[in-house]
Amino acid sequence: MSEVITKKYISCKWLESGVCFDNGVYGSNVKLCCYMSAPGGGNVMIFEDYHGEKINWDKFFEIKQKYREIQQNGDTVEGCRGCVFLEEKDWPQENYIDSIIFDHFTKCNCRCSYCYTEEDKKKYQTLKTYNIYPIIKEMFDKKIIRKGLEDKGGIGFGGGEPTILPEFDKLMELFLKNGFSNIRIPSSGIKFSKSIEKGISTGQVSVNISIDSSSRETYKRIKQIDKYDTVCKNLIRYAKAQKNSYNVISKYIIIPNINDTKEEIDNWLKFNKEHNIGIIVIDIENSWLTKYRNEKPDEKIVDLIKYVIKMSKELNFYRLEICDRAKYLLN
Ligand code: SF4
Ligand code: SF4
Repeated sequence: MSEVITKKYISCKWLESGVCFDNGVYGSNVKLCCYMSAPGGGNVMIFEDYHGEKINWDKFFEIKQKYREIQQNGDTVEGCRGCVFLEEKDWPQENYIDSIIFDHFTKCNCRCSYCYTEEDKKKYQTLKTYNIYPIIKEMFDKKIIRKGLEDKGGIGFGGGEPTILPEFDKLMELFLKNGFSNIRIPSSGIKFSKSIEKGISTGQVSVNISIDSSSRETYKRIKQIDKYDTVCKNLIRYAKAQKNSYNVISKYIIIPNINDTKEEIDNWLKFNKEHNIGIIVIDIENSWLTKYRNEKPDEKIVDLIKYVIKMSKELNFYRLEICDRAKYLLN
């Protein structure tokens, strides 16, 4: 096997070997990433106004190479300046993709009150998407996609609800059979997916469901849909498929005055523990934090986050993830 040439400079895995198919606030584009982790982050284009056309891969890598050269020359790609993902290391000088974000769809079967789609529900529920399967299949056939190393690379979904994409199972099958082991799926949990279940059972998939409640009434107030029992049932089915206890992630976004009681949190923790859900995530509603971020942190909310930290240790969860917004309140 020929040795891979590497070069040391500041870059990031998305700039080097990632791609994001997006159809959101910036339109329908192919980009380096979807992370708003820098002032211009999530908006560095490869192809603008893209709607599923056949991709010229030489052109694709030519554009990516130009970004790479900016980094190699000691400068920073404009949209990447200040990004937290930039790091100095030896980067392989090869053209391949090992990280993909599917963000090319916005339709969802849920109606979370905090979702970005709430600002124009009709638009996001009807926004036209395109078939991505032929593109991904071609990437596999041409060996453009390569399985990332354990700590690097992976497949993620965003936008709307992945399980209602007509191509979802076919796509999953491609990644599962090609040995991808880091497939992260955020889901409303309303539609049960056999391919997610299969990926969980082999340890290749992690599903993240933000249930945000532990009662039908609270769920309904947040999600504007009466599907609490269905989501609980599906969470339990996914959890049962796990080899270990860390492929099903249960998330709780605190929404002040709606689900911010210890009782609701206690019952959520109890549910997760009872059903062997090892990873829990705590977050705070984005629009609430944006509104009050310059004021003294609300003691009740800070105490609730601290309570989750304490209880996660007492109940011995495998891991508690504290999202950046919640961390911000603790500082
Ligand atoms: S914005 Fe950040 S994550 Fe995205 S490509 Fe640039 S450095 Fe990487
Ligand atoms: S499940 Fe996700 S995409 Fe769907 S409404 Fe909720 S936040 Fe939005």
